[in-house]
Amino acid sequence: MNNKSRISKILELLYDEYPKSKVSLDYHNPYELLAAVILSAQSTDKGVNKVLPELFRRFPDVYSISQASPEEIKPYIKTIGLYNNKAKFLNNMAKKVVADFDGSIPQTMKELISLPGVARKTANVVLGNAFDKPKGIAVDTHVIRLTNRMGFVDTKNAVKIERELVKIVSKDKWTKLTMVFIDHGRKVCGRKPKCDECVLADYCEKIILESS
Ligand code: SF4
Repeated sequence: MNNKSRISKILELLYDEYPKSKVSLDYHNPYELLAAVILSAQSTDKGVNKVLPELFRRFPDVYSISQASPEEIKPYIKTIGLYNNKAKFLNNMAKKVVADFDGSIPQTMKELISLPGVARKTANVVLGNAFDKPKGIAVDTHVIRLTNRMGFVDTKNAVKIERELVKIVSKDKWTKLTMVFIDHGRKVCGRKPKCDECVLADYCEKIILESS
């Protein structure tokens, strides 16, 4: 079985296993998703979700958060790691969206990664989930771990992994791949993989490294 057929089968099994798989951050529009993903860097989605209601009540759009100072934003996100930097990112991101994009979150990769605090992974999550315009595959820690264990790649480099995945996965599955891999990474294929109870066992190369 080649890698294209193998990952197609794996995705089929994961769709059955996690039919409700979606971004676990709470958001209602592109601004909220972008802000939530910026906040989620090196933090848990659960922790981020806790601060979002108050943050978005006080700053409901890019205009309000662009006019605040980082000092005004900090109290709303202080339970999240790296909140000093993240307050600056949110403020500067919003300022640029207002100044350069008429207050609308941009919908291209090039424009999104021009925003402070936004790298390719964040842009992929926003393009795929807020706009249904995937330009690539968001590669997070779970996608890195699982694609290595499954034998699709032999690298921790997210850009190289994304490049390999887009070759073997059809575009309509790019956004969902990240979501089901995250769910499977959290539930079954975590630090200690439960291969005995994994639905993917027949299609996985199970390359388990000490450091993975
Ligand atoms: S078989 Fe093991 S290594 Fe492969 S995806 Fe399942 S839990 Fe992970």
